[in-house]
Amino acid sequence: MNSLIDPFNRKIEYLRISVTDKCNYRCSYCMPEQGAHPEGNHSEYLSYDELARIAKVFAELGVWKFRLTGGEPLIRKNLHELASKISALPGVKDIALSTNAERLADQAQALLNAGVKRANVSIDTLDPVKFERITRGGNLARVKAGIDAAIAVGMTPIKLNMVVMKNTNFDDIPAMLDYAIEKGAYLRFIETMPIGSAGISVMDEHVSAERILAKVKEHLGKELIPFVDTKEAGPARVFKVAHSDAKIGVISAVSQHFCETCNRVRLTARGVLALCLGQEDSVDLRAPLRAGASDDDMKAIVLAAIAKKPERHHFNENRHNIQFRQMVSLGG
Ligand code: SAM
Ligand code: SF4
Repeated sequence: MNSLIDPFNRKIEYLRISVTDKCNYRCSYCMPEQGAHPEGNHSEYLSYDELARIAKVFAELGVWKFRLTGGEPLIRKNLHELASKISALPGVKDIALSTNAERLADQAQALLNAGVKRANVSIDTLDPVKFERITRGGNLARVKAGIDAAIAVGMTPIKLNMVVMKNTNFDDIPAMLDYAIEKGAYLRFIETMPIGSAGISVMDEHVSAERILAKVKEHLGKELIPFVDTKEAGPARVFKVAHSDAKIGVISAVSQHFCETCNRVRLTARGVLALCLGQEDSVDLRAPLRAGASDDDMKAIVLAAIAKKPERHHFNENRHNIQFRQMVSLGG
């Protein structure tokens, strides 16, 4: 079997699939207030069969980990049907979900049954008014109900993703820590990233991972012990809280990039394979797929794409320049 090794000797084992570029929220750091881009007509989006076909090609090239993301993936009907198709592929070991959890309570059980064992939920504050403001209309009570439902059906671990903004929710870190510890969830603090117009404007509110960690230590009054997760290599620097089971993580894409261990690529809902979060390099998979390419043809296209994966992003050097795409279509 071929495997996907890029020019920098990184093994690509992880495909993030954005199933829609639409969202029922409009988080200030992710989407411009007026929406991200013109709505595509139905035929521009890959069907579940087409997404599963691409997943099969990647699985046969050694990719074993998949994530369903968006936009908001749970606004696409019957997402569990896609999860079932991907779960059934030989070699697939892990399917995770990234969601704002607004619609998770109703779907958690069906998703778990379809093989989605774990979920990451975006939640930036526990103050309902502030939550509504950040998400431009989100409902915190529904999100918390979604988190509770995911825990109740046994999705583990639940990761809570908090994008930390200096003048908006930095002071909410203590309350978020208490909530995560109470729920037995793993809280990850994300530095703002300058992707798309919304991401670029929110860089005025950027807080470095070091400042975030100092705030965490101040609140917990406990030592943070660096923790290496042997099961899951990811972008977060992970810490265990001394004398407890709690774990926290920081994703410092800007202050300390982690590109040398990058193991992933991203597929957009319209079938574009994005090779790096912060670089324009991408390859269209929809056209050859719809033109009748065989699995072997598709594999050759994917192998050629991976051979062009850039070494790293340049968020730090190039903070105001990543206009060419919006986070909401890339899936995070
Ligand atoms: N709607 C789902 C959700 O919110 O989790 C999935 C898609 S969302 C684009 C995926 C992740 O990207 C979320 O955790 C979100 O917080 C993060 N994100 C979006 N824009 C960002 C930005 N400018 N900087 C850092 N993280 C961002
Ligand atoms: Fe929607 Fe997620 Fe982006 Fe918020 S972060 S606007 S929930 S896609």
